[in-house]
Amino acid sequence: MNSSCYKTGRTISPQGIMTHSTATPGGTAEDFISYWNGDVSECTTYIIDDTGIYQLLPEKHRSWHAGSPANDMYISYEICEPGTFQYNGQWATMGNYDPTLPENIRYFNTVYAYAVELSAYFCKKYGWEPDSSHVLCHQEGYQKGVATDHIDVLQWFPKHGKSMDDFRADVRACMNSSDGSSKPDIQIKYYVQAGSYKDEKLAKSFSAVLAQKGFPAFVKKISGMYKVQAGAFENIENARKTVEKLQEAGFEAFIVEG
Ligand SMILES: [Zn+2]
Repeated sequence: MNSSCYKTGRTISPQGIMTHSTATPGGTAEDFISYWNGDVSECTTYIIDDTGIYQLLPEKHRSWHAGSPANDMYISYEICEPGTFQYNGQWATMGNYDPTLPENIRYFNTVYAYAVELSAYFCKKYGWEPDSSHVLCHQEGYQKGVATDHIDVLQWFPKHGKSMDDFRADVRACMNSSDGSSKPDIQIKYYVQAGSYKDEKLAKSFSAVLAQKGFPAFVKKISGMYKVQAGAFENIENARKTVEKLQEAGFEAFIVEG
């Protein structure tokens, strides 16, 4: 880790844990880890995407995430946002994000469950009540007067019916559950894949072509390749129908199990 947050080695006595989201659609934990591993000054303690929770700094290292004095108060984590939308400058409304898209529901449920687990882990470890003094998001920190004015995560969580009070209630439930985990309640099993590229730009432009034709296309980075997917489904029949529609429209597509 080359981030100056690590090299400087300043430590804090954590008073709580602060939730962020990256405002970078499609940027994965892997992308952020390699960026932060450069000689940059900002870096959170943890980062989450739909593949897991990754620790970037020792938990008592002072991270850079929300200005002063929040940086001295909280363990911090970023949640990566899915590559299914663009902000187009509409930060407060999250641009053209569609909360009804199955891939967005799957992604949100997965990262939300990780965020709940991580917060519950630290509440238990430090004996914190999961209340708004100890478990809060960046915008709530701003409202308290301790953090910079960023909207995260209130531009996103409420689109899936979750306020920060709901989040804190879920953290409490997770702390009280026997195995300490909270499972996402939707399981996507089938993806329709319409293309696979080494080049991210090519993948994105093909995804845009599909979107123009009415397919809910998005780009997902899987083991170094940019896969263009045109739908995520719980039911294989619905996946088959999308493949047929794509073929009728002249595209090649097939179903992959996830
Ligand atoms: Zn933030």
